Amino acid sequence: MYDVVVVGGGTAGCAAAYTAGKLGLKTMLLEKNIHLGGSITSGLVIPVMYSGKNQINNDFYNILIEKLHEIGGQITYQNNKGWFNPELCKIVLDNLMAEASVDVRFSTFVYKIFHSNRSLKTLYINTNILSVYDDTIDIENNMLFEPIETRYVIDTTGNCEIGKILKCNFLENPREYQPMSLRFIMSGINLEEFGKWLLEIDNNRDVTTVEEIAGQTHLSTAYTWDTDKHWALAEIFDDAVKNNILKDTDRNYFQVFTIAGMPDSIAFNCPRLVLSLDPCDTKDISKGVKTAREAILRLSNFCKAYFPGFKNAYISNIADMLGVRVSNRIKGKYVYKLDDIRTGKKFKNPAVISNYPVDVHTAGKNTSTLSFTGEYQLPIESLLSDDYDNLLVAGRCVSAEYMAQGALRVQASCFSMGEAAAKFIKSNIA
Ligand SMILES: Cc1cc2nc3c(=O)[nH]c(=O)nc-3n(C[C@H](O)[C@H](O)[C@H](O)COP(=O)(O)OP(=O)(O)OC[C@H]3O[C@@H](n4cnc5c(N)ncnc54)[C@H](O)[C@@H]3O)c2cc1C
Repeated sequence: MYDVVVVGGGTAGCAAAYTAGKLGLKTMLLEKNIHLGGSITSGLVIPVMYSGKNQINNDFYNILIEKLHEIGGQITYQNNKGWFNPELCKIVLDNLMAEASVDVRFSTFVYKIFHSNRSLKTLYINTNILSVYDDTIDIENNMLFEPIETRYVIDTTGNCEIGKILKCNFLENPREYQPMSLRFIMSGINLEEFGKWLLEIDNNRDVTTVEEIAGQTHLSTAYTWDTDKHWALAEIFDDAVKNNILKDTDRNYFQVFTIAGMPDSIAFNCPRLVLSLDPCDTKDISKGVKTAREAILRLSNFCKAYFPGFKNAYISNIADMLGVRVSNRIKGKYVYKLDDIRTGKKFKNPAVISNYPVDVHTAGKNTSTLSFTGEYQLPIESLLSDDYDNLLVAGRCVSAEYMAQGALRVQASCFSMGEAAAKFIKSNIA
């Protein structure tokens, strides 16, 4: 009998499992891939966005910072400690789960769930690699499956996969999906040369920053096709489109960051797909990744043609997961509202405190939202399923209105949600 099974070893799931294990709960963590980290590692989503100085439930985030730093996988850039190395993150997360005695199962899925009334009882998981599945199999009497009894389940799959098979109530999404992105890394870059050039052409320090850390150049810059803002890189992108090096849509969103412990590399927060694709539909995902990989090749050629320091640069990594900003969100005991953010509403049991803006992407020009608010709190009730008493969610599938989720989905808040979910379970079991 486990106290808690965490399904999905990504951003929120790792925080949940580590915290549960450290609190003495018998914890299992199920992950479909062969490494932990989710968006951070599979999606190459780095850095963690700064979310204010009054964050709570951030013990896991702090230990991750510390352990990554010890092996050269973390830097503090422009006062943000969340600049991580995605590959080293995989190793640190393995170690942290071992330290917290978490039973981690990779390549593992849930095939069947037994519940009585409002309570989940047993999850059937695969014990063998299972790449073909036949639903006529008698799962209960087949050696390929193992029954896992548990008191609580935390769904941290991003898309709320457990909620999906349990037919939980979900919150409504607008008809247009938020664009997804397929992030990638280029290496072989002379960052010193690129950094010097960037500082010369862009004096907007809200957009372009360069900092020397431990003898290495770190930097960040951005450009979008939105015309309501002046971008220093605009003319360069215009020229590349004119010369057919880029398609017009390739330049809808461009953002780059250097990476801790990778002195010649840059992580790209693009290409962002302007196609309206369903992030849970396999046909749409297949179309999306193919389209995105074509764009990655064009963006790489563009960088080599236009940016100083890119003479010997090459694509060194393409994310193995499409970056999904929002998909299924569970209906929880409390549906968090945009107004709660705007008014900074206080709650008795906050799971998250953050000041990250409402950040909702759209495919069109000048239509995305990046709206700064003050500090706000998310209540624990937004992590509790309305349909099942021992099911919690954490991460981007949180019970929040569409626009409010746009503020909550960043990694710092996902860490806090995971940690808060584990603490809630501990306080209910004790
Ligand atoms: C393009 C893009 C850029 C972003 N940029 C930033 C940024 O710069 N900084 C920032 O802080 N945030 C950023 N975000 C937001 C942030 O990265 C994510 O919202 C957040 O990491 C989601 O965390 P999660 O735990 O909900 O999901 P994930 O981290 O995606 O974890 C889900 C995990 O569940 C696993 N899983 C899924 N289904 C199953 C299953 N059935 N069984 C077992 N395991 C399963 C997955 O493999 C994965 O490991 C960005 C998001 C996107 C899409």
